[in-house]
Amino acid sequence: MSMEGKVALVTGGSRGIGRAICLELARQGAVVAVNYAGNEQAALETVEACRALGAQAEAFRADVSGAAACEELVQAVKDRFGRLDILVNNAGVTRDGLLMTAKEEDFDRVLDTNLKGAYFCMKAAAKVMIRQRYGRIVNLSSIVGLRGNPGQTNYAASKAGLIGLTKAAAKELASRNITVNAVAPGFIETDMTAAMPEKAREAMLATIPMARPGQPEEVARAAAFFAREDAGYVTGQILCVDGGMAV
Ligand code: NAP
Repeated sequence: MSMEGKVALVTGGSRGIGRAICLELARQGAVVAVNYAGNEQAALETVEACRALGAQAEAFRADVSGAAACEELVQAVKDRFGRLDILVNNAGVTRDGLLMTAKEEDFDRVLDTNLKGAYFCMKAAAKVMIRQRYGRIVNLSSIVGLRGNPGQTNYAASKAGLIGLTKAAAKELASRNITVNAVAPGFIETDMTAAMPEKAREAMLATIPMARPGQPEEVARAAAFFAREDAGYVTGQILCVDGGMAV
């Protein structure tokens, strides 16, 4: 297995796409650190599901929107498992609203969690990975970061920002044997999309050539590809998992 003995940290691993990524990494042999913000019950369910696959796993509570919390999170994982090989920046939130009426605090919350959270975790993880001369970083962007979406200016900005962050960090870290890539999911069935108004859901679904929503496991397999040791010559790439939406 390409991830045997590798230690992975997945932010927002308690539910949805993050949980599916934890399970896929566990299935491929990784030790999994499951980060969550507040939903301890869900995080522990992910941990149990990873263990049922024969993997070592543990839950780590941290709000990734703060720099200190991200540093402490990475340190806690390193202290517990001795190294950090894979970082998946998956934690994300939405605060939808039209540009004209959206609030600045919503913009800040979305940018702080989705973009700065990934930046802080990458910074902390890169220090460990550079010393190891090995690392795999995977960021969860979105089709919305590539194409925009009405009512999601803050979210689109955060997800487009992740693409620039991914490409710049890929160039900086390539010589250290650290790859940085992003997955851009389309419309995936999770709590996040279940919370969308019915009209917005229907509008999104109508733009999918495959005429169905994606499943978290379909995104997880793409994220796990980038996280594998044998994907080491792939960096700075954005892989859409979207049933053809971006084509
Ligand atoms: P979700 O079901 O709403 O789950 C969000 C996860 O993020 C939860 O585990 C949550 O933890 C965690 N989280 C939220 N804020 C956090 C914070 N400040 N610190 C740490 N963890 C935090 O979302 P999802 O649909 O699985 O989405 C996962 C990622 O994929 C997000 O980055 C999202 O933007 C992206 N994405 C999703 C879709 C889609 O269609 N679903 C499409 C494109 C991109 P708790 O359980 O503790 O709350």
